[in-house]
Amino acid sequence: MSQRPAGVRPYPMVTCAVCEDLLDGRGPEVTEVRGRQELIFCSPACQQRFQASPSRYLAALPRAN
Ligand SMILES: [Zn+2]
Repeated sequence: MSQRPAGVRPYPMVTCAVCEDLLDGRGPEVTEVRGRQELIFCSPACQQRFQASPSRYLAALPRAN
C-alpha cells in the first residue's frame, strides 16, 4: 500500500510507465511523483529512462480525469 500526498493523482496503469512490464509487486518497483502525477516503474533502471525524457512518457499516460 502506497501513501500518496493529498492532491496527487494515482498512477493510472498496471504496467511500468516506461517499458510496460506488468507491475506484479514482485520486482524492485519504484514510485515517483512528478508534478501532481504519481508514477510507478518496474525498476530503478526504468526510472532513470523516464528521468532522461519525462515529457515523452508523461504524454503516453492515459488521463484518469
Ligand atoms: Zn519498466
